[in-house]
Amino acid sequence: MSSEFRTRLPSLPLPLPKPQRSVPAPATARAPVTAPSTATASSQRRRPPWVLMYHSVSSCTDDPYRITVSPYRLDRQLRWLRDRGLSGVSVGELLRARAAGGGAGLVGLTFDDGYTDFVETALPLLRRHGCTATVFVLPGRLGGDNAWDELGPRKPLLTADGIREAASEGMEIGSHGLLHTDLTTADDATLERETRHSRTLLADITGTAPDGFCYPYGTVDARAVEGVRAAGYGYACAIDPGPLTGVHALPRVHVDASDTSVRMFLKRALHPLRRKPLPETPGQGPSDGTGRPIAPEAPQDVTRNSPEDSTESAGGGNR
Ligand SMILES: [Zn+2]
Repeated sequence: MSSEFRTRLPSLPLPLPKPQRSVPAPATARAPVTAPSTATASSQRRRPPWVLMYHSVSSCTDDPYRITVSPYRLDRQLRWLRDRGLSGVSVGELLRARAAGGGAGLVGLTFDDGYTDFVETALPLLRRHGCTATVFVLPGRLGGDNAWDELGPRKPLLTADGIREAASEGMEIGSHGLLHTDLTTADDATLERETRHSRTLLADITGTAPDGFCYPYGTVDARAVEGVRAAGYGYACAIDPGPLTGVHALPRVHVDASDTSVRMFLKRALHPLRRKPLPETPGQGPSDGTGRPIAPEAPQDVTRNSPEDSTESAGGGNR
């Protein structure tokens, strides 16, 4: 597939430089010369960062929730990024680069749930390709399994030692809450435990309070966003947060075993069209990943993983 695709890739509809000589446009149709630079810079900063969402990396083919990629497929996907001059990095690194005005060639890599196969299988591949990633773990289920996935199969979760090992390899550790609870249906005490207490537990494990949070199931509402922000997280990952999009509700793209080079190409091209731009933050310029400002007056709607077109796996992956 890959060599055949690589030779065919140039025929895909890449933007081509315009001819130098062309018929002059009418004066009314010409764009102003100076005004767009600020607008372009602003639109670049607000462009949603491309963050990929993985879960388990394993050769297991029993995968009713479509959360598993094989080591072979992950290797191909990381190679695909590298061949295009893209670097897979943790979300924290991606946001810091954007805050400094860079980050154009960076792609966020996230691994939800903190399966033991992250350390055993994903880490060596990430190392091989010079990537880092963020792994969102569950400090309330250390050494347990994905009991929330009714259909199974059961997959073991990292212990405290496994989390420390991932951190020592340069991976960013983020919180996925305590027990994999839908925050939009949690009472106040549960919301507090899932956000603030999970952060404290992870600080005890790694020595560093995590900056990143990830909403279980990708479900998020304004109350959950506020709870996560108030617990001290600098950013949070969702899936398709719609009007809640901001640094505490970052969109991500589901990636699974079906994502070949062609689908990766399409997902990258379509991402800025499918996801809303990050909000402007009054008085501080666009939200740039520094972690403090969030979307003002966020609506109360609960957003869930929306139905996607054929380049995403409808009904799967939002675990
Ligand atoms: Zn999850």
